[in-house]
Amino acid sequence: MEARKRIALVAHDNKKSELLEWAIFNKTTLQKHQLFATGTTGNLLEKELDVHIIKLLSGPLGGDQQIGALIAERKIDVLIFFWDPMSALPHDPDIKALLRLGVVWNIPIACDSSSADFILTSPLMNQEYEVFLPDYGSYLKRNI
Ligand code: PGA
Repeated sequence: MEARKRIALVAHDNKKSELLEWAIFNKTTLQKHQLFATGTTGNLLEKELDVHIIKLLSGPLGGDQQIGALIAERKIDVLIFFWDPMSALPHDPDIKALLRLGVVWNIPIACDSSSADFILTSPLMNQEYEVFLPDYGSYLKRNI
């Protein structure tokens, strides 16, 4: 991945204020990167941060899956995903799928503000980084 990261930001409704507060505090750092977000999260962030955000659909309407697809296409480098551990949500399969693809493609994922702080302050955020990937080639060439 390049020095300028492509960061996806997603927050469930009960976590939106926490993400907003975190993003406002880290505005200067976030502005150095290219930002993506699910629809509602993106609108809130854009208004509060006054930065351009590439907005996808709202999460329950397919936005989580769009971010998952971008990760699989190697077009997202970092996922900041404040998911709500205290509520059941209708798009639970999409949430699980998004987290799964983040691990399949070995990108840094933060699901809470402490992890997000550690990721954002890592020196690797400002330099090129080669992502290690398992040998998916042999999986693709398997005999079936
Ligand atoms: P939202 O989606 O930003 O459109 O609210 C977040 C989610 O529920 O995944």
